[in-house]
Amino acid sequence: MKIFCIGRNYVDHAKELNNPVPKKPLVFMKPMSAVLINNKPLYYPAFTKDLHYEAEIVLKITKNGKHVEEKFAHKYYNEIAFGIDFTARDVQAECKKKGHPWEIAKGFDGSGGLSEFISLDRVDSNAIKFHLKKNGEVVQKGNTKDLIFSFDHLISYLSTIFKIQTGDIIYTGTPAGVGPVQIGDTLEGFIETNLPEKTSVKMIKCDIK
Ligand code: MG
Repeated sequence: MKIFCIGRNYVDHAKELNNPVPKKPLVFMKPMSAVLINNKPLYYPAFTKDLHYEAEIVLKITKNGKHVEEKFAHKYYNEIAFGIDFTARDVQAECKKKGHPWEIAKGFDGSGGLSEFISLDRVDSNAIKFHLKKNGEVVQKGNTKDLIFSFDHLISYLSTIFKIQTGDIIYTGTPAGVGPVQIGDTLEGFIETNLPEKTSVKMIKCDIK
């Protein structure tokens, strides 16, 4: 299982961190040990003083593929989850400055918050609305219609470089509104579903300890 992550895939988020809007997907990966499931808490890592949340829609690959054409990419996924791409922003800033890789800022234990997966049939698959609450207040709102690189494009692009395999997951990027968490905070992620009609379903809860 591989965990792909896409950076700067919403224009408003690229701008909030003063990053250029990318011409092709910005890809990084997390190790499997990063995955945080079953609403487990995240223990604030000792090596950062600026831990941030990034709310993202996560795709699960359901079929092996290589060089998948974009027009066929929809056959390679049918479920989504709510993900939190936890980021040690201060460590990442240092990495960026030095031109170093991001793994220590984004691949640490627990850095991949992940809800259960739900069928794409339950959502408006071309415009999935999601939001994140911190301590009960909405801090991020996203809609996948605003993605710079669509799900299909990401799968097609990734498959030109990596064999994509059943069980791989893709964190598809975060909208604007990323911010810090402190010990004692609670994050909750919601996805708007069609069944029942336009109801936001709580997908994930994560306490920072
Ligand atoms: Mg991210």
